[in-house]
Amino acid sequence: MPIEHAAILAARDRLAGRIRRTPLDRSPCLSDRCDVPVWLKREHHQLTGSFKVRGATNAVLSLSDGQKAKGIVGVSTGNHGRGLAHAARQAGVRCVICMSSLVPANKVEGIRALGAEVRIVGDTQDEAQKEVDRLVAGEDLTMLPPFDHPDVIAGQGTLGLEMIEDLPEVETVLVPLSGGGLISGVALAVKTARPSARVIGVSMERGAAMVESLRAGTPVFVREVATLADSLGGGIGLDNRHTFAMVRDLVDETVTLTEDEIAEGIRHAYWSEREVIEGSGAVGLGALLAEKARPTGPTLVLLSGRNIDMTLHHRIVSDETVEV
Ligand SMILES: *Cc1c(COP(=O)(O)O)cnc(C)c1O
Repeated sequence: MPIEHAAILAARDRLAGRIRRTPLDRSPCLSDRCDVPVWLKREHHQLTGSFKVRGATNAVLSLSDGQKAKGIVGVSTGNHGRGLAHAARQAGVRCVICMSSLVPANKVEGIRALGAEVRIVGDTQDEAQKEVDRLVAGEDLTMLPPFDHPDVIAGQGTLGLEMIEDLPEVETVLVPLSGGGLISGVALAVKTARPSARVIGVSMERGAAMVESLRAGTPVFVREVATLADSLGGGIGLDNRHTFAMVRDLVDETVTLTEDEIAEGIRHAYWSEREVIEGSGAVGLGALLAEKARPTGPTLVLLSGRNIDMTLHHRIVSDETVEV
């Protein structure tokens, strides 16, 4: 394994008092429907609205003093960017987020409000990445990637420790899957404590890079397509170093959802659980509702984030047909 269970325990100590310990609650309606106890890990109530702040904070705090003095840089305009900005501000570290001019103004403002410097360069993600490379080479900033990094994986794994502590008898865990940092950490933490537990990764049908890579036996390029599960888009990196192997070795099963099934997860969260969840955070619910994942024994669904455009959310829960 690229990371050891001990690294997750160390991350928990590092994060103590710096992140929220999110609640785990039984869902009466899903438990009835699935004939097994179903529990919801409400991680969308995490600081910054997603679990990404765990990995980001662990990675920032693990930097050397020299690296901290110079600062960090990243390209994500989504949950990873928010996590980095928050983690850096808390640690008193400079944070630069590079993005293309096509990124919507509300996202730019969201990152700025968290205290990060925003550099708008060019009109593609590639040009933004070039600016990152320039800052790494020229100003000696440290680039922190969203998933393929041992400290990021260990930070996300602290979620698995909380799951096991709160539901030691867990048998099935449903986890949203993109680059696999989240599920790698969670699966290592859960399976170390409870080897019989099954960990199931859930992605969207459109552009599921990890699922395609597992099928091919090696990281492959997958074209990115618009999806309601926008935080699950993007590749796993053809030069993936850690998460591909961890997902291959630790994850029992993967399932993929249609856009309608993702929307159904968002609707269920709202109308039946009274929660606002983004598409990527709702795929575990969608998988249960569509009966694509078979829950055996006490089942835990990870709700991973809530950063959805509220106008889009309103349309989805109002049952309008939504094209993204
Ligand atoms: C990043 C993200 C995921 C997927 O995490 P990976 O580590 O890339 O697999 C799932 N849900 C939300 C809300 C995210 O932001």
